[in-house]
Amino acid sequence: MMRPSLHARIAQARSERDDRRRRRQRLTVTRREGVRVMVNDRWLIGFCSNDYLGLSQHFSVVGALQDEAARSGAGGVSSHLVCGHLAVHEALERELADWLQVPAALVFSSGWLGNLAVVQSLLGEDDVCVQDRLNHASLIDAARLSGCKLRRYPHNDVQGALRQLRAQPEGAAMIATDGVFSMDGDVAPLRDLALAAHVQNAMLYVDDAHGIGVVGPDGRGSVAGARLTTQQVPLQLATLGKALGSFGAAVVGTADLIAHLSETARPYLYTTALPAAQAAASLAAVKLARREHWRREKLQELILRLRGGALRHGFTLLDSDTPIQPLVCGTAAHALAMADTLRDDGILAAAIRPPTVPENTARLRLTLSALHTPDDIDALINALCRARDETRRRVGTAP
Ligand SMILES: *Cc1c(COP(=O)(O)O)cnc(C)c1O
Repeated sequence: MMRPSLHARIAQARSERDDRRRRRQRLTVTRREGVRVMVNDRWLIGFCSNDYLGLSQHFSVVGALQDEAARSGAGGVSSHLVCGHLAVHEALERELADWLQVPAALVFSSGWLGNLAVVQSLLGEDDVCVQDRLNHASLIDAARLSGCKLRRYPHNDVQGALRQLRAQPEGAAMIATDGVFSMDGDVAPLRDLALAAHVQNAMLYVDDAHGIGVVGPDGRGSVAGARLTTQQVPLQLATLGKALGSFGAAVVGTADLIAHLSETARPYLYTTALPAAQAAASLAAVKLARREHWRREKLQELILRLRGGALRHGFTLLDSDTPIQPLVCGTAAHALAMADTLRDDGILAAAIRPPTVPENTARLRLTLSALHTPDDIDALINALCRARDETRRRVGTAP
């Protein structure tokens, strides 16, 4: 028997990605100013960042980072349980818990690690994690890596979730869902999922990476938006690298679960602490996000303007009232052609293709920021119209 060559295998996989227009290329941004990004010496209006509230370059966020770096350095120097846990981490956890009205919060170096920590430290091989089919990859991988049974249900199908739970009556159970779906922008039916979890004695875990700061009262996220508390949602994930414009994440919830994570979660114990300077930036960002309601109000106005304009010009955006406004194009070739033409027109938008999204639903994932102006939105709509015409010429059909 011949052992397969890894080199041959990856070359084959790459050529298949080529054939299916699925090669991925990074573009290099040389400067960034608010929603404007410079690529190949040209300024473009960006509609692809997750900096929804426009906080990542806010002077008090950047200032907090600089001040704390001057005090305690650039690095995390150790894991939290050795000597990497600083007062500013503590202050950030308290601020997050206070804002989100939960007893406790635990800071992680990334949302990816936070999800892994939750699933891995709570579920073992006899247990089941029931997940929405469109959940973020980090939730899916968290279940895979924890060794529990992973069962998926059709998008937002609460009955489907119930069926999966009923089919696994033994072992502990968790329903895990995105709060706001990252590639679709819609909000999970959290009240119904909470009921399903309750009748099946399962824990509901909500990954609110795209909801925190943006939706719900005072930007407290989709769980608060559904008027749920730690009673129904004992744990949720808040990321710090999206609406909060910083980096890292926090798992928030009940005191005993948070204590369990801080003492047992491998992705917490065996990694370097989030640098204190980054925690300071996040702390400043949380204070702004809590206080500056105008950022959310402005976002809502921009969302309505984009949806209204798109509708008038015959585009059907996915049903979403969050800053994630996807335009499904169909094939990867269509989505790429749209993105290319938009770029020629000074607009940077991301073409999201399978396997990130299901087959035949390649899309432009348009995201809005409180720093966009109404003129930026109008420029986007005009560019979309031209891109549609151009794409029709090039690949036949267009959205
Ligand atoms: C971005 C994202 C994560 C991962 O968070 P990072 O801090 O970027 O690692 C987790 N879940 C969802 C839904 C996300 O969109």
